[in-house]
Amino acid sequence: MITPSNHPLSASLKEYFGFDQFKGEQEEIIQSLMAGNDTFVIMPTGGGKSLCYQLPALISGGTAIVISPLIALMKNQVDIIRSYHKEDAVAHYLNSSLSGDQTKVVKADVLAGKTKLLFIAPETFNKKSITNFLSKVDISFLAVDEAHCISEWGHDFRPEYRKIRQLLDTVGEGAPRIPIIALTATATPKVQSDIRKNLLMEDPNIFVSSFNRDNLYYELRPKGTEDVVVKDIVKYIKKQDGQSGIIYCLSRKNTEKIAELLNLNGISAAAYHAGLEPGLRAERQDAFLMEDAQVIVATIAFGMGIDKPDIRFVIHYNISRSLESYYQETGRAGRDGRPASCISYFNPKDLVQLEKFLRDKPVVEREIGNQLLLEVAAYAETSECRRRFLLHYFGEAYDQSKCNDMCDNCMHPTEKYDGQDHIKNALSAIKELKEKVGIDHTVNVLIGRASSPVQNFGHDQLKSFGIGKDKEAVHWYSVIRIAMLEGLIKKDIETYGILKITKKGVAYKNEAYPVQFAKNKNFKELVLKNDVPEEPGVLDASLLGMLKNLRKKVSKEKNVPPFVVFQDNSLDDMAIQYPCTLESLEAVQGVSKGKARRYGKPFVELINKYVETNNIECPDDLLFKSVAKKSTGKIQIIMSIDKQIALEDIAQAIDKSFPALLTELEVIVNSGTKLNIDYYINDRLDEEVQDIIYDYFHAAKTDNLEIAQQELVDQDVEIEEIQLMRLKIMCELGI
Ligand code: ADP
Ligand code: MG
Ligand code: ZN
Repeated sequence: MITPSNHPLSASLKEYFGFDQFKGEQEEIIQSLMAGNDTFVIMPTGGGKSLCYQLPALISGGTAIVISPLIALMKNQVDIIRSYHKEDAVAHYLNSSLSGDQTKVVKADVLAGKTKLLFIAPETFNKKSITNFLSKVDISFLAVDEAHCISEWGHDFRPEYRKIRQLLDTVGEGAPRIPIIALTATATPKVQSDIRKNLLMEDPNIFVSSFNRDNLYYELRPKGTEDVVVKDIVKYIKKQDGQSGIIYCLSRKNTEKIAELLNLNGISAAAYHAGLEPGLRAERQDAFLMEDAQVIVATIAFGMGIDKPDIRFVIHYNISRSLESYYQETGRAGRDGRPASCISYFNPKDLVQLEKFLRDKPVVEREIGNQLLLEVAAYAETSECRRRFLLHYFGEAYDQSKCNDMCDNCMHPTEKYDGQDHIKNALSAIKELKEKVGIDHTVNVLIGRASSPVQNFGHDQLKSFGIGKDKEAVHWYSVIRIAMLEGLIKKDIETYGILKITKKGVAYKNEAYPVQFAKNKNFKELVLKNDVPEEPGVLDASLLGMLKNLRKKVSKEKNVPPFVVFQDNSLDDMAIQYPCTLESLEAVQGVSKGKARRYGKPFVELINKYVETNNIECPDDLLFKSVAKKSTGKIQIIMSIDKQIALEDIAQAIDKSFPALLTELEVIVNSGTKLNIDYYINDRLDEEVQDIIYDYFHAAKTDNLEIAQQELVDQDVEIEEIQLMRLKIMCELGI
C-alpha cells in the first residue's frame, strides 16, 4: 500500500539516486502518486519519467508493479536500479525470458517483501498463474510505462496493454484501491484520451511537459532522383565538420547503398538494420557511439534506447509514417541542448509507398495508418511555422514568433495574405453541415463537388455548396488547418476527424481578426524543379584552348592520337569543371581511373595554374562519386565480344540499335575495359581502308566523326565504320 511519508522527497532523491534536484515536474508527480491519486505523465523522451515511479516505489511499503513493453529494456532498467542498491532483490522482472527456477526466486523475494519494483511484460501479466500470485502481494501502485501502447493511435500498439485495468482489478480484489501512474512520450490528444479511458483512471492528476525542442531546426527538402538527393546529402554532411548524424531510410537495401556512397565520398558511415546479424549490429552501433563512424544510415530499427547526446543532424531520406515517429526520430538530435538540424527529403510519391505497406493490415489499422499519413503530408506541405504545426499536433499551443528562424518556413517565409474571409466561409460551411462531417466532405461542399456522400445527404442543396469553387481543394484543406491552428475549429477526438467549431470559432463571425495565410508548398512541382540537372557551368574557352595544346604535345610525346589521351568531350568537361586533383579528374566525362593516372598529371597541373592566376575556386563538390552501375547488359556485351559474335547479333540480343550499341562500347572502353573487335572490323572493312582511317586519326586534331567522314570522302566509308576504327585505336593505345 502506498503511504505518504514525512521524509522530504529531495532527501530520498539524493539518497537513492544521488541527484541534487528534481527535473521538471518530477517532485509534483511523485507527490501526486504518493497521495494515492491516479497520475498521468506526459513527458518527452529523456525527460526523466522512470524516476517518477522508481523513487515512490523505493520509499513505499509493498511492491510496485511496472508494466513495460520491451523485454530488452526491462533487464537494463532493473540493472540500473540494482546498481544503486545493496541487494539485487530490490528490483526484479517477470517475463518469458526467465526459467522456472528463476521465476521461483523472483516470487519468493516478492512475497518476502524484499522487492520494491517488479517489472512485468504485458503478456506475462495476462497469465493466470501470475495474477493468482499477485493477488497475494501487497501492491503499492501500478505503473504503466510507454502507456501509448494502449492506443491504436499510438505508434506501437500492443493489444495486451488493453487488459491491464481488468487484470489489476482481479489482482486487487478486496484490497484498497491501487493507484495507477501512466507514463508516455506520445502526446496526441487522441492517444491521451485512449489511455485515460482504457485504464479507467479516476480523475487523474495530469502532468504535461512542453514538447518543444527549441534547439532543433526543422527543414523539408524536395526529393528528386536518388542521385540528386545523395549528392545533396554528401554536400550537407561535408559541411558538418565530422560531427555525428543519423540518416533514416525505409529499406534495408537503401541503408547499405547510401552508406556505401557516403564512404566512397570520404564520409565514414555504417548501415544499420534489423536484417543484420546481432553481432554486426552491435559492432556498428558501437562504431557510431565511439565515433569511428560519423554517420549511421539506418532503418527505424535504430535508436530505441540510444542515448548519444551530441547527434548534430538527423536526415530523413524517407519521411516517417506518422508525426509521432517523425518527432521521436528527429528528437534523437541535440539531446545536449546545443543546436542540431532535422532535414527531411519529401516526395509525395513516398506516401504512396507507405500506403502500400498498410494494404495487408486489418481495416481499422489501415484506416488509422492512412489518417496518420495525411497528417504527415499536411506537415510537409505547410508553409506555416513547422514547430507550431508539430506542437499543435501534440496538443500544445505555441507562439510562432518564438521559433527564431529555427524552421525553414520561418527562415524563408512565403508571401502572406489575409485569409479571414476564407475562414468565415469554412466556418459557415461547417455550421451548415451541423458539425457532423470530416474535412474531406467539408472541402467537397466548399468547392461544389457533388461526391456521392454529398449527394446522399442532400448537401449539394446547401447555401455553402460551391461558395469556394474559385479555389482548389488544397486551398480549403489549408484554410481549415490554419483555422485549427488558430483554435477556431477542432477535430473531434473521439471520432477522429469530425470538424467542430470552438467557442472562439463561434465568436469569430462577429469578432473576426486578420489571419495570415501562406500558400501551401506544392511538393510535386518542387520535386520536378529539383530534378533538373544542375545547370552546366560555362565552358571556359581560353582554358579549353590551352588544354588542346597540351593534349597535342602529350600525344606527340607518347606517339598516340590526341583523342587517345583525352577525348574532346572530356576536355570540354574539364574546361567547365576545373578539376584540380587527379581524384576530381576522374569525375570528368570519359576519364577512367587508369586514364587519369596515365595522362592526367600535366592536365591537372595546367588547370591548377590557370585557376590560380584567374582566381577561380576549385569546386570540391565535383568529388561526388557514384557507384559504377553493375549493368548485366555490359557484362553480356563483353562476353559476347569475347566469343566473337557479330555486333549486329549482339545488338539484337540486348534489344538495342546498332548505333546505341556502338555508344555503349565507347562507354565500356572509356571506363577502362579493352575490347578486341578486330574479328568484326576485318569482316566489314578492307585492310587498306582500315589503314587509311588509322593514319587519319593518328594525325587528326579532333576525334569528331563527321569531320573524319568529310576528310575521308574519297574512301566512301560509313560513319559507323569510322567509329569502329576509332574504338579499335582507343583499345590498342588507350587505357
Ligand atoms: P524517459 O523515460 O522520460 O525517456 P529516463 O527516465 O530514461 O527518461 O531519464 C533520462 C535521463 O535523465 C536518465 O539518464 C536519468 O538518469 C536522468 N535523470 C532523471 N531524473 C533526473 C534528475 N532529477 N536529475 C538528473 N538527472 C535525472
Ligand atoms: Mg522511459
Ligand atoms: Zn518556425
